[in-house]
Amino acid sequence: MNGEEPLERALEQASQIVAAADYTVALVGAGISVESGIPPFRGPGGVWTKLGEPAMDGYQRFIADPTAWWTERLSGKDEFAEFLKTLDDAKPNAAHYALAEMERLGLLHHVITQNIDNLHQEAGGSEITEIHGNRLKLRCVACGARFPLREFNMEEIPPRCPDCRGVLKTDTVLFGEPIPQDALQSCDHHTRRCDCMLLVGTSATVYPAAEFPIIAARGGARLVEVNPHETPLSEICRAVLRGPAAEVLPRLVERLRPGADATGREEKP
Ligand SMILES: [Zn+2]
Repeated sequence: MNGEEPLERALEQASQIVAAADYTVALVGAGISVESGIPPFRGPGGVWTKLGEPAMDGYQRFIADPTAWWTERLSGKDEFAEFLKTLDDAKPNAAHYALAEMERLGLLHHVITQNIDNLHQEAGGSEITEIHGNRLKLRCVACGARFPLREFNMEEIPPRCPDCRGVLKTDTVLFGEPIPQDALQSCDHHTRRCDCMLLVGTSATVYPAAEFPIIAARGGARLVEVNPHETPLSEICRAVLRGPAAEVLPRLVERLRPGADATGREEKP
């Protein structure tokens, strides 16, 4: 059998599911960032594989001494310096652009991402919930308000909240830190509302993301997986697009553009 055939058939199914849905949510994991050259945390080439597992008490250390935490972070010498540099250099890939186009076409209503890299926004997406925060923002530990990192000159360490003078930490969720309540509530809202969920580059085995596809499916949503590898969720998906998101998602969008028929060919005028 032609190796393309199962993917063609799955693209056909997936485009029909997305086209028929009223409210589609994408749950996005590290796989999409890996395709932009950002290493995953675990597995071959992973950040922790190289550096060793980090201390699990990052948040507790921050709270105990925010000045020391910020001093180390700003020195550029902490254990994440190289990883942070990689994030600075990363650009959105075709998968990020495909999701942003789906949003513009009214075919994707929300993105729940486990990534902190801001690449969805850089690609033009706007309806985004970041479970683990955004590396370009700061968040107040007292009132929860978020601010763009670039608005702070870091002369005052630790930086302070302009609203309540609380200590600001990076918005990125540290080890040992609870997921911010507003992010969890947003995930819950969109998960319960959707009738189609795209699972992009995530095996969704880690809390809280692991729950979302299950809750969505129980509520009647149809799941579509986009992943080069089989995952524990594959068997409950209505369509499985087996391939890298940067290759597969643009082909899905091709079929969904106005004027395209189900095979992605433009209709003759
Ligand atoms: Zn505050």
